[in-house]
Amino acid sequence: MRALTEAELLAGWEAAAGHGPAVRAVALAAAAGGHTFAEAGALPLGARDALLVELRAACFPGDLQCLARCPGCGEELDVAVPLSDLRQPAPAPPGEATVTAGGVRVRYRPLTGLDVLAVDPAAPDARRRLVGRCVLEVEGLPVDGGGELPREAVAAVAAALAEADPRADLRIDLTCAVCGHGWAAPFDVPAHVWADVDACARGLLADVHALALAYGWPEADILALGPARRRFYLEAIGA
Ligand SMILES: [Zn+2]
Repeated sequence: MRALTEAELLAGWEAAAGHGPAVRAVALAAAAGGHTFAEAGALPLGARDALLVELRAACFPGDLQCLARCPGCGEELDVAVPLSDLRQPAPAPPGEATVTAGGVRVRYRPLTGLDVLAVDPAAPDARRRLVGRCVLEVEGLPVDGGGELPREAVAAVAAALAEADPRADLRIDLTCAVCGHGWAAPFDVPAHVWADVDACARGLLADVHALALAYGWPEADILALGPARRRFYLEAIGA
C-alpha cells in the first residue's frame, strides 16, 4: 500500500472523527483501501484490520508504542510492538460455513465491521445479536421455539466465527520485565492506528492554521506545499 496523501489522510480523519470506535475502524479502512464506507464495512474484521496495519506501515513506519498491564504483578509496561508482529500472512479469507449444535444446523457468513457497529456492545444480548446478523439460514429450528437460536448454537457460531478469522483478534506475546510473567495480550489495531492518524491530522491542521493566519493562504494551497517549503514558512513565522 502507498502512503496516503495528506489530503487523503485528512479526509479519512474527518470521516472518522467524532464517531465511536466501530465507525472509526471502518472509515479508516475505507481511506486505506480506497473503498467506500459500505465496501470497507462489508470486509471480515480480520481483513479490515489488516488494511489498517498496512495503512500504519505505509504512513507511519516504526514500532507502535503502547501500554500494557501485567496480569501477574499489575505493573504497567511500556511496550514497543514492531509492525512486523502485526503483519501476519493472510490466511484464506473466511467465507460462508455451517455448524450443527443445539439440534439445529446454521449457515452463517463472517462477522464484518458493519455488524459490529450495528450492535451495542454493552447490550446484554450483544453476542446473540452479533451472531444473529451473520446467520443466513437455520435448519431444524422447532416451530414452538419462538424462532430463537438455541443457546448452544449461538455459542457454536460465535466460536466458529472467531476461529475462522484469527486476524480479527490479534494477540501479542509479552513478557513482564518485573516479574517475568508471559502472556498473549489482545491488541486493538483500530484504536492504535486511529491514535496515530488523529495525532498526525491535528498536527497538519495546526500547521495549516498557523500559515493561513500569517499569510491568508487557503487550506488547499498550504497542503499543496511540499514539506520542506511548509517547514520553512512555519519557521519564518516562528510557529
Ligand atoms: Zn509482572
